[in-house]
Amino acid sequence: MAKKLNGTVIVTYRCNARCSMCNRYKAPSRPEEELTVETIRKLPKMNFVNVTGGEPFIRQDLEDIIRELYTKTDRVVISTNGFFTDRILDLCDKFPKLGIRISIEGLEETNNAIRGLPDGFNRGYTTLKKLVEKHHPDVGFGMTVQDRNAQDLVALYKISDEMGMEFATASLHNSFYFVESKNIIHDRPAVAKHFEDLVNELLRSNSPKKWFRAYFNHGLINYIYGQPRLLPCDMSVDTFFIDPYGDVMPCNGTKDKEVMGNLKDTDWDTLWNSDQANAVRARVKHCGRECWMIGSASPAMKKYIWVPAWWVLVHKAKSLFTKHPYSMYENKIVRDYRDGKVTKEELDACSTCDFSCQIDNGLSEKSKEQLESRSGEEIVAEDLAGQMKEEN
Ligand code: SF4
Ligand code: SF4
Repeated sequence: MAKKLNGTVIVTYRCNARCSMCNRYKAPSRPEEELTVETIRKLPKMNFVNVTGGEPFIRQDLEDIIRELYTKTDRVVISTNGFFTDRILDLCDKFPKLGIRISIEGLEETNNAIRGLPDGFNRGYTTLKKLVEKHHPDVGFGMTVQDRNAQDLVALYKISDEMGMEFATASLHNSFYFVESKNIIHDRPAVAKHFEDLVNELLRSNSPKKWFRAYFNHGLINYIYGQPRLLPCDMSVDTFFIDPYGDVMPCNGTKDKEVMGNLKDTDWDTLWNSDQANAVRARVKHCGRECWMIGSASPAMKKYIWVPAWWVLVHKAKSLFTKHPYSMYENKIVRDYRDGKVTKEELDACSTCDFSCQIDNGLSEKSKEQLESRSGEEIVAEDLAGQMKEEN
């Protein structure tokens, strides 16, 4: 039997937010070019599908897409900025098992400064609260931890815990997908300290799922210090991304878009087994970007389960004797930096941050053309104004 894959479907590059760590809102796709249900129908059976954007709820036909995806998998999770409360609640009414992850970048002031959405925190938080009130079963927060919001990390985790929600973390990455190359953590020890506090909170819980989350966050400390991943990256072998144009890619972390093939032009098996796909796999095998995002870390944690399982066992044993079973100084690089054996400049050089990099945003020529006369923000604002008029 063929191995089931994990897929991420980027349904649009349009976005209504203005996040400080992602410029995708400046580089939207044209709605006429975006993935159709017919193309989605060509996807294989999957273990799990993450639906993301841009902002997925900008698509008014999202319901059709989700319905089609449920013929391929039992588990669909949408990542959203949470702005379109009514659209989210409506969709959850139609698909009671649908997972929803809302990005919240900190407590109110911090979130609104980072995300740049009018009243963004209250919109996102209200959406979350309404979903919880409706007893929607699979709801959670996602937070991209950086210098500006690390101080809110544990507080947000506690809010999510009290509301009985999942809490997913990430840190800054650079890639064509984020249309960004300048993201970097400046004060690594300060940010790592907040991750350390979160790891200890998670280890103190009674939930095995949270203990493994603790390992993931331990991996984020390793990542922000620019070290090799704790586990191999097998993207493009058991995991794929598909973008709004139908381009199938290994992941969303590469500097430029890596295309294994276009699903509009062919069928899945031909694409997945093509020379072009194998050439991408060969490059991914030697990829030095060392990302640690849940999309690539979670399949690796399942595949090499004994590594995180051993780490969890050791730290749970420690937690019998101390309230702080984890220390960020378990990581040699964190000790070396504290002890002056490695400089900030040397660590910066290990990151993917590149101030002189020309980013190719991965847009089609037609989508790029529309940016010649108007900005991405103007295009999406006009698009949304049209949608609101239609709905009223
Ligand atoms: S991070 Fe997400 S919500 Fe923010 S601008 Fe990028 S695509 Fe939009
Ligand atoms: S490390 Fe993995 S997820 Fe990151 S860019 Fe390379 S292949 Fe993609």
